[in-house]
Amino acid sequence: MAKMFFDDDADLKYLQDRTIGIIGYGNQGQAQGLNLRDSGAHIIVGNVSDDSADAAKADGFEVYSITVAAQKADILFLLIPDEFLPKVYSDHIAPYLRPNMVLNFASGYNIAFKCITPPPQVDVILVAPRMIGKGVRDTFLRGTGFPSLLAVHQDASGNALAIALALAKGIGSTHMGAVLSSFEEEAIIDLFSEQSGDLYFPRLMFETLVESGFDPDVVLLELYASGEMSEIYAAARDMGLWGQLKLHSRTSQYGQQITSQMFSNPGAVKDNLRQVVEHIRSGEFSREWTREQESGFVNLVKVTNENLQHPMQKAENRLYRLLGRRDKDLDSADWLQVKEE
Ligand code: NDP
Repeated sequence: MAKMFFDDDADLKYLQDRTIGIIGYGNQGQAQGLNLRDSGAHIIVGNVSDDSADAAKADGFEVYSITVAAQKADILFLLIPDEFLPKVYSDHIAPYLRPNMVLNFASGYNIAFKCITPPPQVDVILVAPRMIGKGVRDTFLRGTGFPSLLAVHQDASGNALAIALALAKGIGSTHMGAVLSSFEEEAIIDLFSEQSGDLYFPRLMFETLVESGFDPDVVLLELYASGEMSEIYAAARDMGLWGQLKLHSRTSQYGQQITSQMFSNPGAVKDNLRQVVEHIRSGEFSREWTREQESGFVNLVKVTNENLQHPMQKAENRLYRLLGRRDKDLDSADWLQVKEE
C-alpha cells in the first residue's frame, strides 16, 4: 500500500527564508506559482521573453531569464515541457547549482530515463500533480485540492522529503492527499496511460458506425462531442468506476458489462498492454523519443497531420463549426512548432 500524506504531515516552515524559482510559467508554472504565493512563499519566475513571461509580470511576479532565476532562487520548480528541459537544464541551470539547492520536478521522466543527472550536493524531488494546471489553481481556490505523487531521488540536505511535503502543501495538494512514489513509477505509469489507445479506439468506433451507415454528426456527439464522457469520468472520480453505473439505465449497465465482453479478449489485450509497459520500462521508448526530438519531431508532425486528414476529423470540423466551437478547420499541427530560449 502506498503511503499517503495530508496537510498535518507537512510543514511550510521548510519554505521560510527561501526563494522559489518557477522555471517555465505555463500550465503548471502559473498555477503552482500563484498557489505557492497564496500559501506565503517567496516566488520569482524564470522564463524566455514571451507571452508566458508577460503573463507572469501581469500576475505581479518578478520575472528573470532562466539563467538569472537559477542564480537567485534556492528551490527550482522545473516546469518546462519534458522534451526541452534537458537542454535548458544543461545550458541555463546546471552551471549555477549551489549546495543545498532543491530541484523539484513535476514529472519523473528526465530523472527516470537519465536525461538529466544532477550533481550530488542538491536535493532532487518530485511533486507531480495528477491534475492539469487549470485544475491545480481552481481546486486550490475551491479548497478541495488535488492528488500528487511525491518522490525523493537525492537527499543531500537530509530534509528532502519534508521539503517535498511542504511544497505539496504550498501548491494545495496535501489537502486531498499526496502519495509517496518514485520517479520511475510516476514516469512509467504516466507514459503507459498516454500510450494505451485513448485516441485510436474512439476512432475505430467512429469508422465502424459510419461504415455501418450511421450519421457522422450523431456518432461524434455520442462518442465525445456532447461532453457526456467527461461527465461519466467525473462521476467515476467521485463514485468509483463501477459505483457510477447506478447513473446509467439497466440496459446500459447490461450492455457495458455483458455484451461488451463479446469482443474483448482479455488475454490478447493484456499481452499488448504488457508490451507497452516493457517498451517503456526497458528505456526503449525513451531512446526512440530522444531520436525523434533530435530529428525535429518529423514523425510526430507527420502522423498528426495525417490524423487531421482522417474522415473523423473532417466530420468534427463540420460539426464544431455548426456548434460554434470552431471558426477555422483544425487541419494542421501548427501547435507543434518549437521555440528556443
Ligand atoms: P507548458 O507546455 O505549459 O510549458 C511550460 C513553460 O515552458 C512555458 O512557459 C513555455 O513557454 C516554456 N517553454 C516551452 N518550450 C521551451 C523551451 N524550448 N525553452 C524554454 N522554455 C520553454 O508545460 P506544462 O506546464 O504543461 O508542463 C510542465 C511540467 O509539468 C512538465 O514536466 C510536465 O510533464 C508536468 N506536468 C504537466 C501537467 C499538465 O497538466 N500539463 C500535469 C502534471 C505534470 P511558452 O508558453 O511560451 O511556450
